[in-house]
Amino acid sequence: MGLSLGIDFGTSGARAIAIDSSKNIVAEVHYPFTNANFQDWQKALFYLLDNLGDSVRSELKSIAINGTSSTVLLCDNWGNPLSQAILYNDGRGIAFLEAIKAIAPPHHPVIIATSSLAKLLWWSEQEIFSQARYFLSQADWLAFLLHGKLGISDYHNALKLGYDLENLCYPDWLENLPMFNLLPQIFAPGTAIDTIKPDLVTRFAIPKDCLIYTGTTDSIAAFLASGANSLGDAVTSLGSTLVLKLLSSQKVDDSNYGIYSHRLGNLWLTGGASNTGGAVLKKFFSDQELRNYSLAIDGQKESNLDYYPLLKAGERFPINDPFLPAKLTPRPDNTREFLHGLLESIARIEALGYQRLQELGANKLERVYSAGGGAKNSTWRIIRQRHLGVPVLLSKQEQAAYGTALLAQQSVTLLK
Ligand code: ADP
Repeated sequence: MGLSLGIDFGTSGARAIAIDSSKNIVAEVHYPFTNANFQDWQKALFYLLDNLGDSVRSELKSIAINGTSSTVLLCDNWGNPLSQAILYNDGRGIAFLEAIKAIAPPHHPVIIATSSLAKLLWWSEQEIFSQARYFLSQADWLAFLLHGKLGISDYHNALKLGYDLENLCYPDWLENLPMFNLLPQIFAPGTAIDTIKPDLVTRFAIPKDCLIYTGTTDSIAAFLASGANSLGDAVTSLGSTLVLKLLSSQKVDDSNYGIYSHRLGNLWLTGGASNTGGAVLKKFFSDQELRNYSLAIDGQKESNLDYYPLLKAGERFPINDPFLPAKLTPRPDNTREFLHGLLESIARIEALGYQRLQELGANKLERVYSAGGGAKNSTWRIIRQRHLGVPVLLSKQEQAAYGTALLAQQSVTLLK
């Protein structure tokens, strides 16, 4: 039946996962990196293909790649980057925020210093810009290395460029920009673009009819991996920060809260990110302590400690207050009680987050999948379920590469 390969380029490394027709993982390869740029990405991509194993490569029928959102490249006519890529969290575009506000609709997700559009405008004032022919996201450029086609992207990677996700076209305010000719043509994520390049067929012994599909972003790929697939399904990522995503029929955008919606077929993936989360737990506890103390907590019982756990003052979602102070007092003498208060308080913030998304128009919350370092904490799951009032489940798969493999396999029903 053939195998499908998903390749994830995240913030700390690249990973490839191959799945069979029953969606079982048959191979997984990881390539760690930090602060990597395009030279390392190319090396990582070929390392992953090299290390999949002959039998897996010879069965590949489809490949898709996800990248980090708003990591972008400026390329010449042949796809050679004209300088280092600008990474997802690079805020150099801040000087162009006023210019963007002047053309984009209010509350649009491009109105942040790290948006792809802000990075394009920054580049437009550099000397190399005169040689530029293509402005691409990380995933687009890596897919180009596989199929050889330039100027192609997907509507997930294009959100923070300003692509109109409702009407599936570029808006007039972008078309009127002098650099509009550099922007890629946009397809739905998981669209077949072309077969793999002949030189790669020879180099890796991959079947010559293996198709390369448009990709997505790392966080959407992780959502696809979770198993969430119907209205009201949500995924909470309990990593260093607390990230919520809720599948809705209504689009919700509010830049005041940093809330925006990605399109998923005919539905919308609404979401927001809070500064609370695991990083605060890590400040007080090792992973081992978190495990041990959590086991001693009765999750059914409510802790009366009411904190707002932050590493530093300032919050955007679910409370928009750039000066919101961290609240970590009163601190009881008993360490278990302190942790109980922290877990309870983060669960309250999670519930407030989903409430906020629903107030702004998202569908009713029905089910929450959990991902990230805190997801495996079963006591916390009980506490969260009490606050959320809906079943709280573990994500079926956590790796973004798995979600992207589903995309390559054409088995993401939401996109059909
Ligand atoms: P990220 O990729 O966002 O850095 P991870 O998903 O790897 O984060 O999760 C790491 C976080 O998970 C850490 O901040 C840590 O405090 C938290 N964590 C680890 N184990 C537990 C646990 N048993 N209960 C709650 N949180 C945990």
